[in-house]
Amino acid sequence: METINLFRKPGMESDVVHERVQRFFQDHDYTISRLYDEQAKYNVVIGGDGTFLRAVHSTSFSSIPFLGINTGHLGFFQEVNTTDLEEHLTLLLNKKYEIHSQALLGVTVETTAWTYTLLAVNEFLVKSSDEHIVHLGVNIDSVDFINTSGDGLMFSTPAGSTAYTLSAGGSILHQTLKGYQITTLHPVRSKSFDSLPTSLVLPAPSKTVVTIDRPDQERIQLVGDGISHHFHGVKRFTFFVPEDTIRRVIFRTNWYWKNLRDKLF
Ligand code: NAP
Repeated sequence: METINLFRKPGMESDVVHERVQRFFQDHDYTISRLYDEQAKYNVVIGGDGTFLRAVHSTSFSSIPFLGINTGHLGFFQEVNTTDLEEHLTLLLNKKYEIHSQALLGVTVETTAWTYTLLAVNEFLVKSSDEHIVHLGVNIDSVDFINTSGDGLMFSTPAGSTAYTLSAGGSILHQTLKGYQITTLHPVRSKSFDSLPTSLVLPAPSKTVVTIDRPDQERIQLVGDGISHHFHGVKRFTFFVPEDTIRRVIFRTNWYWKNLRDKLF
């Protein structure tokens, strides 16, 4: 018997959908696991994009294919709606789908004491943990690129381009592209500091190092997919596209454009 890992957003609508999903899989001789089983066939997530992000983090960026069922507002990670649920679950069991690899974003955090590596599905923000302006040096592929000052910087994945980055004036990138995007957040307009006229899209092999002025080192925070991280004595962050990806079940390859048209415009 094969297993399905099932994740859900709390709430009435997700409860009803959860019942339907559970019944469908049990009728087809699958076992449902509420705890992450690393031998499972699929990770099925019922909810919105926020629920999807939490499921990916709670499984430590599982390589088991994710299938999203939308009960949230936007649903950029959820191709399946509750109206066509059983139809899509049948396609799933008949293996009538493609698997898309979705690039992640990695960051290495060097502090005076330690080095950490973190991953994100949507984005990382480098910003002040209080209301102060932060001064940041940006070096791309060993080229000193800009010295910026303001609310901070946002580094986002192509899949994250429809989330926070879009609100910050970034561009929309198709979810299957490999690379990342840098956006300055409310940069100070002064001849003493640089800002980016638009967001900057980098290819996957590019590495970006962000250095932090000494007075800012204790007040800097890193926010990855909505989760805040605080470090003592941060010297630099290095952003890169890791080899690890997450995988998603996709039924229609043009789904993304339809979703964008229907949900954003
Ligand atoms: P949340 O407050 O529950 O979710 C924030 C909103 O972002 C929700 O409407 C969510 O959609 C949507 N969202 C998440 N990923 C998306 C994507 N890739 N494309 C389009 N929309 C997306 O917070 P959360 O659940 O912890 O999610 C954290 C994410 O919220 C962050 O990664 C950041 O991108 C986003 N965020 C956006 C802003 C902003 O736009 N000003 C501010 C803070 C955080 P659902 O309703 O479908 O869950």
